[in-house]
Amino acid sequence: VPVPIDAVVAEALDRCRMKANARGITLASIGVRGLSVLGEEDLLVTAVRNLLENAVVYSPERTRVVVCVKKPGDGGVEISVTDQGIGIPERDLERIFERFYRVDPARSRATGGTGLGLAIVKHVTVAHGGRVTVRSVEGAGSTFTLWLPLRSDNDGSSADRTRA
Ligand code: ATP
Ligand code: MG
Repeated sequence: VPVPIDAVVAEALDRCRMKANARGITLASIGVRGLSVLGEEDLLVTAVRNLLENAVVYSPERTRVVVCVKKPGDGGVEISVTDQGIGIPERDLERIFERFYRVDPARSRATGGTGLGLAIVKHVTVAHGGRVTVRSVEGAGSTFTLWLPLRSDNDGSSADRTRA
């Protein structure tokens, strides 16, 4: 089923707005409009929402969280969530997508999560033929990026697909 990325982002932002407001965090959405992917809208909303919830929970009050949609020209769409939060230590980056893995239980106990959010993000993304990556600097912030294959009618690569 074709799923408009704009709708996915808007819905995920809606679901996080109260939590963000409660912490004085500004949510912003920028980038390319009008792109679609094939998949399950609810699952994609859940994936983006999980990234947004993390961004809100692991950031100081009065900071900014930005969702950015890009079309890198490789047949896919990138949806990134950038925060100005506590960041993730280098040594933990490869493990945060595992189920129940949480960085430093002491610092994350107060936030009361289960450690499943990113495992779900990864599962949903891979199920849609995509991938998820992260860049993070401790004490400065994090960017999580979902890459998803575009529908052939808006990625300009239908010829490649027919050949494949
Ligand atoms: P849940 O999402 O299940 O409620 P959780 O947030 O702890 O719990 P994940 O979303 O899988 O679980 O995240 C795993 C861990 O990665 C978190 O506990 C946190 O330590 C770290 N983390 C995730 N996102 C961020 C972020 N944006 N900034 C800093 N740390 C993060
Ligand atoms: Mg989480």
